[in-house]
Amino acid sequence: MSAAVERPLLFLDVDGPLIPFGPAQPSPTESVPDHGNPLLSRLDPTVGARLLALGCSLVWATTWMEEANAVVAPRLGLPKLPVLEWPEADEPSLHGLHWKTRPLVGWARGRPFVWVDDEIGAVDRLWVAAAHPGPALLHRVDPARGLQDSDFLALSDWLAALDRPS
Ligand SMILES: [Mg+2]
Repeated sequence: MSAAVERPLLFLDVDGPLIPFGPAQPSPTESVPDHGNPLLSRLDPTVGARLLALGCSLVWATTWMEEANAVVAPRLGLPKLPVLEWPEADEPSLHGLHWKTRPLVGWARGRPFVWVDDEIGAVDRLWVAAAHPGPALLHRVDPARGLQDSDFLALSDWLAALDRPS
């Protein structure tokens, strides 16, 4: 990819991909104070560097909103990131469409993007295919396990293919 081309966006969910819901694993951050939130001990501090290495512009797409910058980012070694906003409460919602889908397509404005989330469904895929003119990867993560090697492989493969002239 040339420097003149904008990097792909990567919309990042917290609960599920970064904080898995499965049985607690022995955690590398167990000795780090959790500031009253035991879920934070489930964060894998090595994931931040792996996300940055993908070369995307990261955007929080999570109900944690600014809290993701306050308490999640520092534990992963991530900088402060922009935050996807909730949609207006009076916007009509489509059955089966995730609340994040329309705002993130709007944010992307046709720019290539990856969306990493445990709640991506068929309606979201259909919506993005119809409403987003650029390449998009909707990557569903197993919330019981969180981001794994296989997920990073899928993301880097897709991004590498995006870089290759067709
Ligand atoms: Mg989630």
